[in-house]
Amino acid sequence: MYKNIFLKKGKEESLKRFHPWIFSGAIHHIEGTLEEGEVVRVLSADGNFLAVGHWQVGSIAVRVLSFSDIEINAAFWEERVRVAYEMRCAIGVAGTERNNTYRLIHGEGDCLPGLVVDIYGKTAVMQAHSVGMHVDRMMIADALLSQTGGAVEHVYYKSETTLPFKANLGQENGFIRGGSADNVAVENGLKFHIDWLKGQKTGFFVDQRDNRSLLEHYAHGRALLNMFCYTGGFSVYAMRGGARLVHSVDSSAKAVDLVNKNIALNFPDDPRHQAFAEDAFKYLDAMGDQYDMIILDPPAFAKHKDSLKQALKGYTRLNAKAFEKIQPGGILFTFSCSQVVSKDHFRTAVFSAAAQSGRKVRILHQLHQPADHPINIYHPEGEYLKGLVLYVE
Ligand code: SAH
Repeated sequence: MYKNIFLKKGKEESLKRFHPWIFSGAIHHIEGTLEEGEVVRVLSADGNFLAVGHWQVGSIAVRVLSFSDIEINAAFWEERVRVAYEMRCAIGVAGTERNNTYRLIHGEGDCLPGLVVDIYGKTAVMQAHSVGMHVDRMMIADALLSQTGGAVEHVYYKSETTLPFKANLGQENGFIRGGSADNVAVENGLKFHIDWLKGQKTGFFVDQRDNRSLLEHYAHGRALLNMFCYTGGFSVYAMRGGARLVHSVDSSAKAVDLVNKNIALNFPDDPRHQAFAEDAFKYLDAMGDQYDMIILDPPAFAKHKDSLKQALKGYTRLNAKAFEKIQPGGILFTFSCSQVVSKDHFRTAVFSAAAQSGRKVRILHQLHQPADHPINIYHPEGEYLKGLVLYVE
């Protein structure tokens, strides 16, 4: 059976409210010695069972897998994957012809802290953010195959950059089940090349799907700038929405190749689209006032609480440039994916930018992450993506 970890007196409160993390400072003592990634039982100071989870060296010492005293075996992984898949079918993102690009497992949001699984057609791209998920990866991969009704045939494991460096696991990316070179996935009827081998995260930003649909709805007849375009998700939707002109910009030349490929896949030889490899601030400074729709979806400006103030200044500076140049009657889609930047912080930063420009600005929509990136109600930290759609007079 699993080894026991005893908490200090009074440190069980957050667990009683089902928060899935145990910080190292809450631990009184451990029975025996532990290997990183091992499953442990967590007990209160007076010996009452609280949870089982994955142990790891670091500030978050245990990531809770269950608040029941159970064994973490194949049946456990099958159950969790089955529930997650059923939910994705229920919300209409899985099991349809029109869409086979979705997040199947969203860490704490699916009661599996440390695990992310994105589905692209028949391939699951799996990312472990904890040593425990790495240790259990083969059981998880089997559950992905057996519990998704044939939807998943291949599992690509991509944890080289997400596992703690110090754990020294020597992990390499690669297929751990099946294997396929077919990397075209369908999102809302549009096709995308997914570069899970070299792309950022699992190869695609699945979390903007609903926001891209909303953009499509407003794109008709507009001249659009998609800043921080990466694979060009927003650009492809804008083309289908009937935009007059679409310019995609990213500082990475690889991203520009990807967006061109994805446009060609859906709208071959369509002269409305052009892509540029340039720095955002340089481009925004140099551009004219030709755009009446601008998307700003930058990388996280703050990764930690210490950089919050700097990050907010960055969001203000960036958005101020868009407010300055967008055509009257223009629509701005602006985002932050920094977890430490709250909805209110972000709104204040954008408010400051609007005030600097002196333009009249209305909030049309307040956006967030989609339903396949659920937030565990006991883990509010799971909320990260926020956006505003603004009408600029
Ligand atoms: N909107 C994209 C995701 C954006 S990810 C989507 O829907 O998929 C952030 C992107 O910003 C990355 O592709 C990164 O290469 C790019 N980037 C980072 N710093 C940049 C800068 N200074 N100027 C332009 N692009 C930048």
